[in-house]
Amino acid sequence: AKNAGRNRYCFFSHEMGERAAERMNIEQGLKLAVEKNHLVLHYQPQISLADGRLIGIEALMRWRHPSEGMVMPARFIPVAEETGSIVALGNWALHTACRDTGSLPLRLSVNVSALQLGRDDFIDTLHALLDQTGFPPSQLEIEITESTLQVIEHSRQRLAALKSLGIGIAIDDFGTGYSSLSLLKHLPIDHVKIDRSFVQDLPDDHSSLAIVRAVIVLAHSLGLRVIAEGIETEAQRITLCELGCEEGQGYLFGRPQPLADLQALQQRWRAG
Ligand code: C2E
Ligand code: CA
Ligand code: CA
Ligand code: CA
Repeated sequence: AKNAGRNRYCFFSHEMGERAAERMNIEQGLKLAVEKNHLVLHYQPQISLADGRLIGIEALMRWRHPSEGMVMPARFIPVAEETGSIVALGNWALHTACRDTGSLPLRLSVNVSALQLGRDDFIDTLHALLDQTGFPPSQLEIEITESTLQVIEHSRQRLAALKSLGIGIAIDDFGTGYSSLSLLKHLPIDHVKIDRSFVQDLPDDHSSLAIVRAVIVLAHSLGLRVIAEGIETEAQRITLCELGCEEGQGYLFGRPQPLADLQALQQRWRAG
């Protein structure tokens, strides 16, 4: 037992060392990634559930690492949040997405993190990049999570400033945070995004179904539109459509992909 204990200790300390090393690697690599053009955006379609029309796209960041290949956000966004580099990364994403998709007649959704939104210069930065890219603000929607809003002082005023620019606001991962209901009441929100964890067990899981139904009814009674994320099956699509959910996003409609691929796909759809 004593030996096992010692092995376990060795194992953990070794693993922790590796993790710290990986974190440091990521932190240092990220500093160069923006300058060296190693960050890329993929775009995932957002569909009108009633008629299958493409109405929007969500920009999702990837890191094309010179030796590791495509690194997904789960590996570097949390590190970037901790070290503060998410501000530069997130502003790069906003700028690049607005620059590259402005000519499309589509809504553009971009994720904005707490550190970014909480900066006193956020609204000025946004204003400047809209100016530079010529992106129509009424076509832009920012996605923020419930936890983001909890850590930002004066988040109400911050969102009101976004609204006055004509920008839409979506609450991401809805239902996974703490004060969902009071947020909806007090903040100037347009869209509620139902988290994938509730969608994935539809239509058979009774509690998921009850939660999703309740969220949709609540959102509608407050005048908000609902988008469901992580739709992978036709059965999930039909269920959400029947519950009155307006929009959907998920592998059933399309994976996040380079803009050029998405446009080719769109042309094929149009060609029928
Ligand atoms: P999110 O904003 O909740 O984005 C949705 C995630 O679900 C994406 O993962 C997307 O690829 C994935 N997804 C979409 N449809 C399906 C589906 O049908 N099935 C499954 N299993 N997954 C699906 P991704 O691209 O790995 O991004 C993960 C998270 O990283 C995002 O979650 C977001 O929180 C964060 N992130 C990505 N890009 C940015 C960014 O530019 N700025 C910030 N602050 N965060 C970002
Ligand atoms: Ca999102
Ligand atoms: Ca989400
Ligand atoms: Ca999610």
